[in-house]
This record gives sequence, C-alpha cells and structure tokens, in this order.
Amino acid sequence: MQWRLLRHSLILRLVGLSLLLLLLVQAAGFAVVRATIDRNARAQIAQALDLDENVWRRLLEQNAEKLRQGSALLAADYGFRSAVNSGDEDTIQSVLENHGSRIGATVAALLGTGMEVRAVSLTGSMNAFADALRDVVPPLAVQPQGSQIAVVDGVPYQFVMVPLRAPVVIGWVLMGFPVNQPLADEVRQLLSVHVALVVTDAGGATKVPVSTLPPGPLAQLQREGVPSGELQTPDGTLLARAIRLDSVGGDVQALLLRSVEEVIAPYRQLQVLLAIITVAGVLLFAVGTGLVAQRLTTPLRSLLAATQRLSRGEYDVPLDHTRRTDEIGNLARSFDLMRVDIGAQQTEIRRLAYWDRLTGLPNRERFRDAVVQAIASPASPVQPLAVLTLDLDRFKHVNDVLGYAFGDRLLQAVAERLSQQVRSPDDMVARLGGNEFAILLHRADAAAAHDVALRINQSFEDPLAFEDQTVDLSAGIGFACWPGDADDADTLLSRSEIAMYAAKRKLSGALQYDAAFDSTSTQTLSLLSELRHAVEHHELRLYLQPKVGLHGQPGLAAEALVRWQHPQRGLVPPMQFIPFAEQTGFVRHLTLWMFEEVARLLADPRTRALPLRVSVNLSTRDLLDPELSHRLADILLRHGVAASAFCLEITESAIMDDPQRAEAMLNRLSEQGFKLSIDDFGTGYSSLAYLKRLPVDELKIDKSFVMGMETGEDDAMIVRSTIDLAHNLGLTVVAEGVETAAILERLRILACDEAQGYHIARPLPVDDFLAWQARPR
Ligand code: C2E
Ligand code: CA
Ligand code: CA
Repeated sequence: MQWRLLRHSLILRLVGLSLLLLLLVQAAGFAVVRATIDRNARAQIAQALDLDENVWRRLLEQNAEKLRQGSALLAADYGFRSAVNSGDEDTIQSVLENHGSRIGATVAALLGTGMEVRAVSLTGSMNAFADALRDVVPPLAVQPQGSQIAVVDGVPYQFVMVPLRAPVVIGWVLMGFPVNQPLADEVRQLLSVHVALVVTDAGGATKVPVSTLPPGPLAQLQREGVPSGELQTPDGTLLARAIRLDSVGGDVQALLLRSVEEVIAPYRQLQVLLAIITVAGVLLFAVGTGLVAQRLTTPLRSLLAATQRLSRGEYDVPLDHTRRTDEIGNLARSFDLMRVDIGAQQTEIRRLAYWDRLTGLPNRERFRDAVVQAIASPASPVQPLAVLTLDLDRFKHVNDVLGYAFGDRLLQAVAERLSQQVRSPDDMVARLGGNEFAILLHRADAAAAHDVALRINQSFEDPLAFEDQTVDLSAGIGFACWPGDADDADTLLSRSEIAMYAAKRKLSGALQYDAAFDSTSTQTLSLLSELRHAVEHHELRLYLQPKVGLHGQPGLAAEALVRWQHPQRGLVPPMQFIPFAEQTGFVRHLTLWMFEEVARLLADPRTRALPLRVSVNLSTRDLLDPELSHRLADILLRHGVAASAFCLEITESAIMDDPQRAEAMLNRLSEQGFKLSIDDFGTGYSSLAYLKRLPVDELKIDKSFVMGMETGEDDAMIVRSTIDLAHNLGLTVVAEGVETAAILERLRILACDEAQGYHIARPLPVDDFLAWQARPR
C-alpha cells in the first residue's frame, strides 16, 4: 500500500521528471563536448598535417640538394673530367660506380652535351631505367637546379642533374636515388606522422612500396587506394593528406596520416571524468530529492491517516506536524482546526439527535438505545426491566389557553419532577415528544414499576404554579415489563405506550400492558374482524335505557346502548369491544350503525306518536371525523327524521383530545339541530366555565358520583353543586346510575331534571322498551 502510494505520489513524479531533465542536460553537454573535442582534434590534425607537408617537401628538397652536391662533387673531379674529355670509357664507368655507391645513388650516369647517355652505373637492370632516363632528362635540362621523381618498377626515384664544365659544358652527371623506407621512417620519427607512398604506374596498378603504417591499415590502403580525407580502419580514424609528387613514368602520391584517436585520447580521460561527475551528481540529486520527498510525504501520509480517522468519526486525535513553520505546517494547522470544528459540530449534532433541547432529557432515540442496551446486556440471571410511559392530560389545552411559553415551562417542571422520582442512577427519564415522557427502570418488576407510577401520581398532586397561574397536573401512565410483556425493545416501548393510552381512556392512574388494550395484538385483530363480521351479519343489537323526567316533564327519552349478540359468547357488553373499536377507528362504523338503527326506530310508526328523544354516544374518533355531520344528515334525510329527536352524548375527554376541532364540530352539529350532552361529567378536568363556551344543552353527572351519594357526603356535595352550576349556566342536568329510590328522591329534591338508572329500568331491547313505556303506571 505504501509502495503503491509512493509510485503514484506527486513528489516522486516531480523528482523523477527533474532527474530525467538533469540526465538530458548532462547528455546534451556530453555530446557537445564530444563533438567539440572531435572538431578541435580534426582542426589540430589538419594544422599538423600542414606542417607535416612542409617538412615532407623540405626533406625531399634536402635530399635533392644532397644529391646535387654529391653530383657536383663528381662533376668537379678533375680525373673524371679529363676522362670524359679523353673519352676514357673504363675510367668513366669506374668513377661513376665508385662515386655513385659512395653517396648511395641507385643510378649514376654521364650524359653527353646533347643529353645522350654516354655511361651508366646501375644497381638494377638497365631495361627499366632506359625509359625513365629518357623521361627524366628533358624536365631536368629545362631546370637544372630542380629534381625530378620518376617511377621505376613501381618504386619512385628522385633524380638530379648537374653540368660538367671544363670550363665549357662538356656533359651532364645524372643521379637517381630511391625515395624509400628510411626517409619515411625518418619523417615518422621526426613528426610522428605516418607516411605512405602510393604509386600508380603507367599500367594503372597501385602499389604502396613505402609505409610506416601497421599491417592492418596498410592492407586496407593497398586495397582501397588513396582515401579522400580520412581512412576509417577498425582501429580508428586516420586523417590523411595526399601530396601529389610531380613525377614521370607513373603517379606518386605521398600520404601523410594522423590518427584522430591519438589526439583525442587525452580528452577521453576528461570525458570519463565528466561522466563520473555526472553520475555522481545524479546520484546526489536523487538522494537529495528523496530526502525532500521523505520530508514531504511523511507529513502527507500522516494527514492522510488523519482524514481516514475523521471519516471514521474519530475526532480526538490531534494532528502531527502542526509545529512546522512551512506550508505543511500551515496545512496541518488548518486541518487540525477543521478537526476540532467538525468534532464540536458532531457533538452538537449528537446532542441534538439524542437530547431534548427543552428539558435537557434524552430523547426517544436515546431512550430506545438505552432500552435496547439494557435488554442486550448479558446479565445472569436475567434482570427484569420496566418501561413507564406517561402522557400529560390536557396539555394541548394548556398550550392553547396559556400559551406555548407556559407550556414549555410546564414540560420543564414535569421533567424535573419525574427525574426526582427516579432513584437509581442507571434509570433514565426521557422525553419521547410533545407531552409524552418515559422512564426506564432497571431491575424492576411490575410491582416496582407500579410503585414508581404511584409516586409520580402523588408528586403530581401538588399543582404547578408560575406567573400567578396554577395548573393541576395529571397524566396517564402505562408500563410494560421485560421479559414478561415484550421480547424486544421496540415492542416493549410500544406496549408501554398502549398501556398508557388505555390508562388515559380508563382514567385510571397507572396500568400495566394487557393484550386486551392492544389493537395490534393478535387477540384484538381477530376481535376486529369479528366485529366487522358482527356489523355485516346483524349481530349487533340496539338497547334502550329510559331517561325519565323528575318533575313531570312531558315526552319520553332514552339512551341508545349497543349490545353484541355473539353466536358463541352470548350477549357481549359494550365495554368489552367499544374501547378496541375506538382505538382502531372502527367505532365510526359502529356509530353509523347505531344512528341508522335509531333513525329507523324513530321513523317507526310505533314511536312516532310518543314522541321519543334518543341519546346516542359519540366517541373522540367520531368527533374528529370532518365528515361526521354530513354522514348524520344523510341518515336523517333517508329516514325522514328530525335532528332535534337526537341528543349526542360526548365525554369531556373526547372534547379535550383536540379542543379546537371538537369545538368546531360541536358547533356544526348544534347548528344542524342536534341536542348536545356532556357525558360522564365530573370525571374529566374541564371547568364548567370552559364547557359554557360550547353549544351544550345537557350535563350528565357521572354515575360514580350518583351512586356514591348514598354513602359519601362528598359525592352528594359534588352532585348538588354541579346541578346548581349547570342550572346557572342554563343547562339541563341528567343523573345516570340511579339504582335506588332514595337516590332518585334526593335528586328530585336537588332539582335534577332527569334520571337514568337500573332503579328505573335496565337497558332493554327495543320491543321490551316499547312494552315498558306502555306499561300501566
Ligand atoms: P355510558 O355512556 O356512560 O352509558 C351508561 C352506562 O351505564 C351503560 O352501560 C348503562 O348500562 C350503565 N348503567 C345505566 N344505569 C345504571 C345503573 O343504575 N347502575 C350501573 N352500575 N350502571 C348503569 P353499558 O351499556 O354497559 O355501556 C357502557 C359504555 O359503553 C357506555 O357508557 C358508553 O360509553 C359505551 N357505549 C355503549 N353503547 C355505545 C354506543 O352505541 N356508542 C358508543 N360510542 N359508546 C357506547
Ligand atoms: Ca352515555
Ligand atoms: Ca355515562
């Protein structure tokens, strides 16, 4: 991984590139130096060859001069002259021979005044020389001070001629010397230049009779003839200077050759040195940039590691290299700042995600996590848990009436009270949302959870007071236990909530989860389908319970109550299925069924004459259904009955669930002509003053107070003051749950308007009800 990183790293690419450039520059310099050396060497050699050529010519000249002097010596010889004069042929011949061999001449001859040969002394045969002498003489005769080269048998000879005077010219002495190896060796020794004589005879054959060249180049020269400028041999290049010698009997060229390599040799060392310096420089550069790269890549790698840590969400490891003063240091510092900032933001986000801002309590997510953890903790034996859920009553109302700021303070106060009720530091109080709170109790069974719930209820008994406002606190509390009521955290939470809703419905302080509350439990689901079945297959029955006037008012009234004629279970009372129906929303179908039944009954000729007024119960779901008034109007229209024949019973809590919408619907229903009644009055918390705002006609005192009148003076007091207050507000008062004659009598005295109860009649099937009302009194 590190190597891959290195291979792709920017720095290494930069280093590589600059190394390459460095090498290129060095190579170019090298090439230029080499070319310059070569050029200089050639120029130098050309100069040397100029000199060589001069020297060579001078040597030939000197040779000729030496010959001439020798010849002049012979010509001055008295004996020789007299022999010539006397025509003593023998003497001439012997003098020529002696003298010629003394000065090393190959040819020594005496010519007559007409240039004819009179005598010749020769080391070789005459045949070859005969032609040569003939050719040599004319030019020498023209210029007696010069010399003449002639090729004889492929060998060049140098000839000179001096006059023989006595004192007039009586003849000529001609001498010839071979231009041969010693001369070449002398030049070679003197100038360290190679010399070769290339001779082309009259027949065109080329020969190299004289040469100082080693055998290889010599052979090449013999093969290829005179080179133009340079001779390329396997051993190197020889620069050549060809000097054409004025000759007869064939062509003679003297070649002067100098080796380029020899001249360059000293510079070669310089080049090797240069190459070593270059290599060393490149190595040094590589090491240097490697170190720089190391200094760069190490911090870069640590920055990389830091980003990886950040992406894993680790914000607490500070960055390295922040103390450096260079760009890397700047980068590291701003990176570190970023790390700190992101860390802070993360903490804030986590706080927002897991904590409730208003109360400072953990929120639903955090609470759920805690429950999940508690369930997952591997304790043995298994430690039971309990989750309490709590929903403040009438909170929406408080918000609407007293304002949101007040509502917020109320929630904070509740949070504080709840926290005080939790004893173990492990336990957790959380705000699940709105006015819903939850408590997680470790190592707690149902009894312990129930105790905590009771303590909370007790702590709520003190009303909250701020800004001159006092608010009574109350809440529905439900709880569920693990492992008894649920297997996992989510089910535990939702069952605790279900228990809480049940507690609110039943107005009981605290309830443990029971499958019967649960619209999602299998038990309930099957019940629901059974209920649907019941409506479709006419298993529901309409029962009527009479409401009688206590002061001889005319007319007949009754409350419509539903019964379920179950094929197996027999007659099922409403409390066993209405709560489910309310939870699931199915109650709306039930209400419509009930309306349909009651409307049919009111349209029945048997009741038309009475006339009958029927009270029908509405639940929260009905009240919050925006279509309710249309649906009811539709039914009335179909059966041709008036809305005024109906009284709609609504509980306080149904109104308080969403007071604004409830109020709007109540207004519409009232405008339609329905009478409205507050059912179970006294069990809720609504003040009469508040109810007065609603278009209500009747108040139904809850049966718990009515039934308690006989035994408890408190209840009697409540009943009495309720009746008085209701009357003051212009409402009719009905007492339900009248079970004895004594109570009935007391109610009459208290000026209660109507009564309903077992003492008068139990809820009856329609026929029985009609029979009951027609009984003789
Ligand atoms: P509720 O509206 O308060 O109805 C009065 C209940 O008191 C009825 O119980 C009635 O039988 C009972 N009751 C009447 N007189 C006496 C008495 O002297 N002593 C005692 N102990 N009880 C008496 P029921 O019929 O069992 O109905 C229970 C509840 O079921 C009702 O309470 C009502 O809330 C609900 N309910 C019944 N029928 C319907 C319906 O058609 N629609 C809706 N939404 N709810 C219904
Ligand atoms: Ca009722
Ligand atoms: Ca009631």
